Amino acid sequence: MYKLNFQKFMSEMTDYINFYEELYKKTSIMEPMLFDCGLLCSRKCCENNGKGMLLFPHEEDYLSLHNHGFEIKDSEIAVSGNKIRILYCTGICSRSLRPVSCRIFPLFPFVDSSGRIFVDFDPRALGTCPLLFTDMQDIYIRGIFRLKVLETAIMLSRDPVILDFLKMMSGELEVIKRFRL
Ligand code: SF4
Ligand code: SF4
Repeated sequence: MYKLNFQKFMSEMTDYINFYEELYKKTSIMEPMLFDCGLLCSRKCCENNGKGMLLFPHEEDYLSLHNHGFEIKDSEIAVSGNKIRILYCTGICSRSLRPVSCRIFPLFPFVDSSGRIFVDFDPRALGTCPLLFTDMQDIYIRGIFRLKVLETAIMLSRDPVILDFLKMMSGELEVIKRFRL
């Protein structure tokens, strides 16, 4: 009997180009601090990106329409039958085309076992990003940025394939947190 793969079906139905175009517009201005935090650390997250960063499912569909200068390859990860891509950059990019992972860094939207979405620090940023240091009173992530990341997560999670990706990443990052804390 034919069994419908709901995630795959939705993935085929979703216009990911419009989806990410809208998302990139909505997240074009979101900064963790009032000033360019790259001045604190000489843009460490851009300098140390040799391992590349995962794109969200189908994000490459939108990027492929632009002359972005990134190198995009398949990762080892697949979610709902879709290969997740990994992006490599030179440490400099056109700000309007920076991927979602860079827009929300150093935070990440986690999904817990009951499906609740919450924003917390990304453990991959520990030891790199000064915004996670706890001994510098004036250096902290603005509440409005956390809110923006949550809004972005809610928008992303409306797509079942992306929601699956968030769940998978949440599990992986929780394990990293346990080892690093
Ligand atoms: S490492 Fe942290 S402080 Fe430095 S540029 Fe990246 S987000 Fe900003
Ligand atoms: S894609 Fe752009 S924002 Fe992201 S790490 Fe590379 S240079 Fe930095």
